[in-house]
Amino acid sequence: MDRKNASKILHHLDEENLPFGAVTPPIFQTSIFTFKDFDSFSEAISNEVNSYLYTRGNNPTVNILEKKLAALEHGEKAKLLGSGVAAISSSILAFVKSHDHIVCVKDCYSWTKTLLEKYLRRFEIDHTFVEGTDVEEIKAAIRPNTKIIYLESPTTFTFKLQNLREIARLAKEKGIKTIIDNTWSTPIFQNPIDFGIDLVVHSASKYFGGHSDLVAGVVIGSEEDVNLIFETEFLNIGAVPDPFLAWLILRGLRTLQVRMERHYENAMKVASFLENHEKVKRVIYPLLKSHPQYKLAAEQMSGGSGLFSIELKTSDIEKIKIFTNSLRLFKKAVSWGGYESLVFPYAVVHPDSSDPNFSLVRLHIGLESSELLIEDLSQALSKI
Ligand SMILES: *Cc1c(COP(=O)(O)O)cnc(C)c1O
Repeated sequence: MDRKNASKILHHLDEENLPFGAVTPPIFQTSIFTFKDFDSFSEAISNEVNSYLYTRGNNPTVNILEKKLAALEHGEKAKLLGSGVAAISSSILAFVKSHDHIVCVKDCYSWTKTLLEKYLRRFEIDHTFVEGTDVEEIKAAIRPNTKIIYLESPTTFTFKLQNLREIARLAKEKGIKTIIDNTWSTPIFQNPIDFGIDLVVHSASKYFGGHSDLVAGVVIGSEEDVNLIFETEFLNIGAVPDPFLAWLILRGLRTLQVRMERHYENAMKVASFLENHEKVKRVIYPLLKSHPQYKLAAEQMSGGSGLFSIELKTSDIEKIKIFTNSLRLFKKAVSWGGYESLVFPYAVVHPDSSDPNFSLVRLHIGLESSELLIEDLSQALSKI
């Protein structure tokens, strides 16, 4: 997305003529909306998707944010939900029924995997996990009952990419819905709808919020698809965001572009430092020339975010612990996308040293000075 358009959307779209000349949108903290007569009341009930009736459906503060997110992703419509996981589950559930099949990337977000492996199995909805790096592999996994190809490019621990244009073309030929988790790139760096992908989901808890103080999600796509999700999943399951949550995300979005540019610059500096460090086997960041899919990354993305993994040369759990515990500025936590730097060793979740990813350590490069972060990593690496 070009800077001028992003700025127009982030700073101006749908914020003309706010009451009393207010510069920020009001928080419409109301559960119900009232009607002047029988007919307008009846019309709203029969057409809830386009009306203000009850805040479990639409709310004006939430809608201002949704318009911005739809425009940023080049989609027709967006729906904000109570979490990224709610956005993922609602957009999958809306397009499957019993005995259908889903093709999904193997290294997808952990709760996406759980949804397919545990939850959807209860309804006899089957799946095939694919590496995702080869379109032929995806083609081979498609069955007559495949309804969804679910992507995450790049994946957020192993940073594997999928060829969005080719997969979208393949899916369209076969009438299969494509959904992508675009949380890592944000629309600042990657717009999957431009490549033909149908639906884009995000965890807004990451860069959209940007301050590690909220949990939310969004799905963006055609008006038809998003309205279907609204009517069949959103209203029924009720993962509803409240107006204040939407307002916090609107506030976060004011700085989305400047933050992303800084995350990218910092990540490149820190990644380049680590790439040349004797204790580090490899750095897995798609925008580094050393990444096996760099060419595809450069075609699909105009930049990268602050999250990447390193593989340490050691596979001694004690040394992985010493490295982690020696970091002073990188906080030990899940999630990412805030202003702060974080460390997440793979072994925290999978303490099995025969796992090929055992020595991976995921870093989130925050908005601090890159010199500070490099100093911190340098002293921690010197301890192992
Ligand atoms: C965090 C995350 C999610 C889940 O989002 P929540 O807001 O935590 O529910 C989904 N996908 C990716 C890639 C994530 O990092």
